[in-house]
Amino acid sequence: MKIIDHIKQAKDETLFSFEIIPPKKGNNIQELYSNIDPLIEFDPPFIDVTTSREEYVYIDKDGLLDRKITRMRPGTLGICAAIKHKYNIDTVPHVLCGGFTKEETEYLLVDCHYLGIDNVMALRGDAMSHQKYFQPTKGGHSYAKELVNQIQNLNKGKYLHDVTEVDHKSDFCIGVAGYPEKHIEAPSLQTDLKRLKEKVDAGADYVVTQMFFDNKKYFEFVAAARAAKIEVPIIPGLKPLSTLKHLQLLPHAFKVDLPEPLIEAVSSCKNNKAVRQVGIEWCIEQSKELLAANVPVLHYYSMGKSDNIKAIFSALK
Ligand code: FAD
Repeated sequence: MKIIDHIKQAKDETLFSFEIIPPKKGNNIQELYSNIDPLIEFDPPFIDVTTSREEYVYIDKDGLLDRKITRMRPGTLGICAAIKHKYNIDTVPHVLCGGFTKEETEYLLVDCHYLGIDNVMALRGDAMSHQKYFQPTKGGHSYAKELVNQIQNLNKGKYLHDVTEVDHKSDFCIGVAGYPEKHIEAPSLQTDLKRLKEKVDAGADYVVTQMFFDNKKYFEFVAAARAAKIEVPIIPGLKPLSTLKHLQLLPHAFKVDLPEPLIEAVSSCKNNKAVRQVGIEWCIEQSKELLAANVPVLHYYSMGKSDNIKAIFSALK
């Protein structure tokens, strides 16, 4: 079922969902299940599964470093299919521009369609770890909007090279990313909003936001988006902070500001167990205010760990 239909069906009730990352290559899927199992009782209508870009690794060969390209966390689509069939919950694979040619994307979407996956999240992806800026893959897309166009074309039965006789069209519901505190590369929040509007005009059905720790940023973003005639649901993405390192890492990686009281509370913690508790409590307070504002869905970045998400869900339900 489409995310937008889940939202419509829930009427004014806020839904709960979360995002997971595939395990590192070579690890067992059981660990993933053991982190999903405790959250099933909260009835998530959908689970997102991230996609990781390829990266370079350097292998020592008789003193010389041999550069190879690899994907550390493959398996997004397989995990989506496995979860969908094990738990009967909709899954949302993240589809990236970076690292994929348009043809590879088409094959991936065809697989999604065969597997009964109704939703995809269309993202550009970040630069590879050795690059300063994002560079489009040869034969791939430069911006998420182009990917939305490709998915919409497929929904109309239009394949890349127009060689296919279509008797059954796909009907993907498309999510895109939005940034309450601006995407790191955007020259201004206003320009970034224009880019978001372009993605929605191209056919995106809903927006999921980057994490934020101050709800004011989300409320202002939604107001600005509505003023810019972006009418689709804007789902807040929340991350419970869990380690002392997050104080530096999250602002650096995601261009988000942390509120002073949160910084002070985390800084006074003696260990990461205490930080985890602060993160849970902060996220519960954020969630309560967003619930009161009737947001369509509360979406949590679980990073593959369920204990803190379970504590948050339990406090809210
Ligand atoms: P875009 O919408 O293409 O925007 C990228 C930048 O280009 C923005 O600054 C925008 O303003 C600008 N821009 C857009 N169009 C144009 C144009 N025509 N001309 C000039 N500038 C333009 N990353 C992963 O690798 N895997 C994941 O699974 C993943 N999941 C995510 C989930 C969510 C909810 C979010 C918020 C992010 C996720 N990301 C993921 C990170 C995302 O890939 C990065 O933030 C990436 O840098 C931007 O992706 P985008 O889809 O927002 O790009």
